[in-house]
Order: sequence, then structure tokens, then C-alpha cells
Amino acid sequence: MLLELDHISKIYGDLRAVDDLNLTVPEGEWLAIVGSSGSGKTTLMNMIGCMDTPSKGSVMLEGRKLEDLNAKQLADVRKNMIGLVFQKFYLVPHLTAVENVMVAQYYHSVVNEQQALEALERVGLKERAHHLPGQLSGGEQQRVCIARALINCPKLILADEPTGNLDTKSTQEIMEILKELHRSGRTVIIITHDEEIASQAHRVIRILDGRIEEDYCNR
Ligand code: ADP
Ligand code: MG
Repeated sequence: MLLELDHISKIYGDLRAVDDLNLTVPEGEWLAIVGSSGSGKTTLMNMIGCMDTPSKGSVMLEGRKLEDLNAKQLADVRKNMIGLVFQKFYLVPHLTAVENVMVAQYYHSVVNEQQALEALERVGLKERAHHLPGQLSGGEQQRVCIARALINCPKLILADEPTGNLDTKSTQEIMEILKELHRSGRTVIIITHDEEIASQAHRVIRILDGRIEEDYCNR
């Protein structure tokens, strides 16, 4: 199993944002987590992505309990195993597309322009590599973000509402890229409030009030 959530809860005062949730995700799965606003999706993603810790329960990645790792080990898991994509792009406005990807490489201590260009080519943006974010459409900016997330060859791609700011055409382009990443062997988890988007994944988890309401296969 790549990911195991064992009775995890995230509790804020009286609110159980995630409530005693169990989930296992085998390596190579193409999974959507769908739920309305406030259902606990981002809270869940933050715990899976090692950005937050559960109030109760355990998160395991490749059989390792995250709570047993020290800060350095946790940072390494975050750095080496997980690629994150958000609704907001968080691109540096005065750096070009390829430079934005190289910033991520710098964080991984492997700055290499050729590899950054290859990552952009993978998302169909090679010819836009030297444009600034402001010269790119929203869909193109999100593709730069995906290229940036791919730089450490992560096993797990976690995308939280990656199409939330995009028009229909750009949304579908992003979905095709995520599907291609799945076909190339990665585990992909997309988080969305949009039923139509979720239905494109092979497995769909529906959450409501921090609990799994439905878990079904789509193929
Ligand atoms: P979603 O991503 O599905 O819209 P969230 O995970 O962001 O939902 O939020 C789930 C619930 O947890 C919401 O009611 C939200 O207000 C609450 N919540 C999220 N983060 C915090 C926090 N840091 N402190 C208090 N409540 C929070
Ligand atoms: Mg959210």
C-alpha cells in the first residue's frame, strides 16, 4: 500500500473537520476525493501531504507511520515522494516558466535547465518556457505548476482543486495531463468539489462532514 489512513481525525474545538476516516490507496491508483465546500477535503490533503498532522490516528506512506518520523525524515518524505498542485498557482511573477521550475529544482539541489525544459515539454509547454506567468493563460500557468511538481519524480501527485480557477477547455487539458501521469505509473489523487471531474478518475471517494460517504470504482 502506498498510503494508509488509520482512523484519522482533525479536530478544531467542537468541529471534526476530518472524522475517524480510514482509507487505503495502492500504488498506481487514479483517485478522486469529491465533496462540497467545507467537507474536509483540504484538511485531508494536508495530512496526506505531510503539511499537517492528525489530532488522532495515523497516516502511513509506504508502511511508514509519519508520526514516527523526525522533522528531517518528514521533510525528506515531503520532498522526495510527493508532488503538490494547488488551486492557486504560487508562481514567482518576475521569473519565466522555466525559471519557476528551476526554483523547485533549487529546493531539491539539482538545478538543471535541460531537465526543467523537459518537464515543461511533458505538460506541452516547451514553446512557452521563456514566458512570464503574466503572459500565460490560467491553464498554462497551472501546467507550469504541474511541471514544477514533477521535478522530484514524486510517486504521489496530490492536486487540490487544480482546475478550480480554470475554464472548461483548460480544465480538460489539466485532467489529460493528470491521466497521463497516472498512465506513466504515478499514483494521482485529485481533490475536487466537481462531480464531473471526479467521475473521470478510476476510483471516487465522496466525503461529507469529514467522513467517507461513498467509495466506488469507475471502470
Ligand atoms: P474543503 O477543502 O472540503 O472545502 P476544509 O478541509 O478546508 O474543507 O475545511 C473543513 C472544515 O474545517 C471547515 O468547516 C473549515 O472551516 C474547518 N477548518 C479548516 N481549517 C481550519 C482551521 N485551521 N481552524 C479551524 N477550522 C478549520
Ligand atoms: Mg479545500
